[in-house]
Amino acid sequence: MARKSIPLPPRGTLSRRQLLRLSAQLGGALALAGLSPLAFPAARRLGSLPADPFTLGVASGDPTADSVVLWTRLSAEVLAQVGAQRDDIELGLEISATPGFERILRSSRVVAPAALGHSAHLDARGLDADREYYFRWQLGDSTSPVGRTKTAAHGASAIDQFRLAFASCQQYEHGYYTAYRHMADERLDLIVHLGDYIYESSWGEVRVRAHEGPEITSLDDYRARYRTYKSDPDLQAAHASAPWVVTWDDHEVDNNYAADVAEDDQTPEQLLRRRASAYQAFFEFMPIRLPVGRQGPDMPIHRRLRFGNLLEMQVLDTRQYRHDQACGDGRKLSCAEHQRSDRSLLGDAQRDWLFANLASADATWNVMAQQIMMASLRSRNEAGEELWPMDIWDGYPHERQALLDLLREAGTPNPVVLTGDIHSNWAANLLQDFDDENSAVIGSEFVGTSITSGGDGSDSTDYGSALLANNPHVKFYNSQRGYVSATLTRDLWRSDYKVLPLVTEAGAPISVRKTFVTEAGKPGVVES
Ligand code: FE
Ligand code: CA
Repeated sequence: MARKSIPLPPRGTLSRRQLLRLSAQLGGALALAGLSPLAFPAARRLGSLPADPFTLGVASGDPTADSVVLWTRLSAEVLAQVGAQRDDIELGLEISATPGFERILRSSRVVAPAALGHSAHLDARGLDADREYYFRWQLGDSTSPVGRTKTAAHGASAIDQFRLAFASCQQYEHGYYTAYRHMADERLDLIVHLGDYIYESSWGEVRVRAHEGPEITSLDDYRARYRTYKSDPDLQAAHASAPWVVTWDDHEVDNNYAADVAEDDQTPEQLLRRRASAYQAFFEFMPIRLPVGRQGPDMPIHRRLRFGNLLEMQVLDTRQYRHDQACGDGRKLSCAEHQRSDRSLLGDAQRDWLFANLASADATWNVMAQQIMMASLRSRNEAGEELWPMDIWDGYPHERQALLDLLREAGTPNPVVLTGDIHSNWAANLLQDFDDENSAVIGSEFVGTSITSGGDGSDSTDYGSALLANNPHVKFYNSQRGYVSATLTRDLWRSDYKVLPLVTEAGAPISVRKTFVTEAGKPGVVES
């Protein structure tokens, strides 16, 4: 990775003073480095507890060939009941190769620091590649549910098949997380979350359950919002079923924010304070390594994952560094601001990092896991003039063109873009030139619908039909709820669009609405 990192010395070689200095450098969140309890000499062990402290479940994420991040977070209520809410708490962690824990491969002690709301992250290193593991946490006389996870295959090794699902947009009030129960049953190699894991405000007409309070802005607010979402048993089941890789979109902070520009009337200073709180809560609740370079409102989360020579994934952040939406946001006529060639969605550092990775990419499938639709999705007003959706890649046409040019010139093998954000399913060809429908196809884009956002939805809408008609490179639209399961082999990428008849009642069945494939070496989406 090109990102700057603070080198960590080998475990067990640090003096206490060195550990404390390192802890300060890392923003106090040392637990993540797997160096834990040593740095917290006063961490408390608890005995018998009045209730289950693991009400938020377990999770794992960001697998490499020899490590994976293991996560849990303790119930604030239970800690308050035993007067431990201000203490750093020491947990036990066990790892086994089998779900029954017949043989414990490793026992660790991990601290859940009070400063991180008693979330625990362990970067469990020294694991074997391409292997299933099971883990469980212990505190006092309580044991957490068991999590299943899986490490990645070594970067050069050949793997025959890889199965992942991607999801986004889970407004808690709009429906039940039934899709996640079905996803958990798939026992996938990886689950990818493309953002809008929480929503900062209430909206929509049909609400089947409530998240507390009005629009949130403080750290306490964001923590409470994540607790509500994380309390859902179907979401917990999906987290316990497979490792996740997560990125954020806008609603983890504020609808359609751009860098330090808020949706409403907050000043940049206010939005940055809010962003610092929102990003900290995101880190606390997600199974990710502490982003190196995190400081206040700055938290770089773009990163690269590799699964044998079959799959490399660039995980992107299209919110933190972008220029403000042009021409007033929404669907607008183009304006001078929109056409400026220096407008960026990714920011300089992330763009340089991404382009360097794509220029040297050598996996069979090269995925960009990101938020917003990359294929053009222009529409026309009644006068026949073109309207540009300014919040998505259409709002940043020069940077999109630079990316498409780079993919073509570098010959990046089989580029695949995974997208969330717009609460509907789409399959699209990425064209060399979106002004010329006959130009070369550079790659494939699979856009997954929401888990719940927007409520039950419908198979087709006038909105979708009009956009399909105006954009021949877009091959499929559906506006039900669900997720996309993908199966990758050396020869074929297969995306199954899975949908539910409704989310306003729990327990709905799931079915495959449509399957699109891409053959290796033949960019573009084909209905199967
Ligand atoms: Fe959303
Ligand atoms: Ca969004």
